[in-house]
Amino acid sequence: MNIHEYQAKELFDRFQVPSPKGKVASTPEEAAAAAKEFEGAKLVIKAQVHAGGRGKGHFKNGFQGGVHLIESPQQASEFAGKMLNETLVTIQTGEAGKLVRKVMVAEAVDITHEYYLAILMDRGTSRPVIVASTEGGMSIEDVAHNTPEKIIRQFVHPLLGLQGYEIRKLAGALGMHGDIAKQFGKLLSNLYKLFISLDCSMVEINPLVTTPDGRVLALDAKFGFDDNALYRHPEIVAMRDKEEEDPREVAASEYELNYIGLDGNIACLVNGAGLAMATMDIIKHYGGEPANFLDVGGGASKEQVTAAFKIILADPNVKGILINIFGGIMDCNVIAEGVIAAAKETGLPIPLVVRLEGNNVEQGKATLDASGLNIVSASTMADGAQKIVAAVA
Ligand code: GDP
Ligand code: MG
Repeated sequence: MNIHEYQAKELFDRFQVPSPKGKVASTPEEAAAAAKEFEGAKLVIKAQVHAGGRGKGHFKNGFQGGVHLIESPQQASEFAGKMLNETLVTIQTGEAGKLVRKVMVAEAVDITHEYYLAILMDRGTSRPVIVASTEGGMSIEDVAHNTPEKIIRQFVHPLLGLQGYEIRKLAGALGMHGDIAKQFGKLLSNLYKLFISLDCSMVEINPLVTTPDGRVLALDAKFGFDDNALYRHPEIVAMRDKEEEDPREVAASEYELNYIGLDGNIACLVNGAGLAMATMDIIKHYGGEPANFLDVGGGASKEQVTAAFKIILADPNVKGILINIFGGIMDCNVIAEGVIAAAKETGLPIPLVVRLEGNNVEQGKATLDASGLNIVSASTMADGAQKIVAAVA
């Protein structure tokens, strides 16, 4: 799960990670009112979407940039008007872009230097890793590609936690001294507490800045949370913005289906994550492109299967469906009944290939046969994949 920058600021405040004051707005009037609260200060207005690269992005209406320095409430209203309800395209959103529903007005600061600072979970070492660079403010992917020596990594022992000497080493590597190094140390130590306490998968500050008046501040924030730990953090779940997520994945999560939307045109409905991966592979092997990963799980109910089938059919890119079930725990007949219930509600406008095997398979096949639906049955996985690829060609 991800959150918006204005929400990240609340968490920064809670954990005493210094960042400039900001307020969210969803209309130009609210933006002007927010700007009035910071009267006298320089201001920045920022589009709030779950994607970075906003500063260098462009709107589909031709307006350039999702981050702007402004000077007055009137300008806040004017810029909010150009960004709200418009689509922002950045290197992270893809061509489709993201609709901006909120902006944040914040106190702007003067910048001496922009750094990059992130904490992530490193799967290779099973440890949190702090990634930092003196080359902040720009795309960290470019820095890693062009000047990899400028990316500093510090692994943290998960039980010992972040150590003083590790913080000092990082501050030194970033060229920080004296009070700036001290402030950075406090900020990083608090950020690490936030990362661990809230079960984050990543926190990224790009840029972390130093200012001419000697402060160290987080100027931007991107947070990811481990979905499996969200049950421990109802206050984080309350920050979820479903409008920012793939609508197919939101619908799937309501039925506790493991679904990930992809770009292809062959939908798959499978039980078991491993079989789902293998099914996507074999579709590709025979020249097709999967439209999704979908694991209905071992204990799926008829209602869940029906919901899964409807989610698949609601995707306009989908030109065919492959159902691949190996019923170990799953009852093949439950799958058959779910498919028929969904197909009766929505119709079955596209080819459907079904490969059923395992628990109660004879009954499942009989149920499908008796339904009168136009279903192509397959005897093996390879057979099923070839048939669906041929059907959508
Ligand atoms: P992103 O483009 O989505 O990563 O959005 P950021 O919040 O990182 O803003 C992009 C860039 O705008 C930053 O790298 C800064 O250079 C600049 N910027 C953002 N806020 C301020 C500010 O308060 N003062 C100044 N001078 N520049 C800012
Ligand atoms: Mg940024």
